[in-house]
Formats: sequence, C-alpha cells, structure tokens
Amino acid sequence: MAVPKRKVSPHRRGNRRAHDALKPAAFHECSNCGELKRPHNLCDACGHYNGREIVAVGL
Ligand SMILES: [Zn+2]
Repeated sequence: MAVPKRKVSPHRRGNRRAHDALKPAAFHECSNCGELKRPHNLCDACGHYNGREIVAVGL
C-alpha cells in the first residue's frame, strides 16, 4: 500500500526490510559424480538425476 515516505518511521521501515536479505543459493553434491548441483535439478556435469542418466554428456 502506498504511504507517504515520511509517515513510515525508521523502526517500522527496518522491521519491514528485516526479511529482504538474499539467501545464498542452495547447492548439493551430485550422488553420481560428486559435483555441486542445485537440488531437484539435473546434474550439469554428468547428466544424472535420481541415480539415472537423463542426458548424455561429453564425447
Ligand atoms: Zn553428477
């Protein structure tokens, strides 16, 4: 909701921004090759997901 800038106190503004910080991206080791990969995503290095090869990589 639009509120005049000076009507919001520094305390209230700070409270609102308390949850604005960015969290570091999640990474997990690939169970096949050990490379870091994003959870629930295909491994970029070996093309495996959930123990199966989904995409052929390399060669
Ligand atoms: Zn992998």
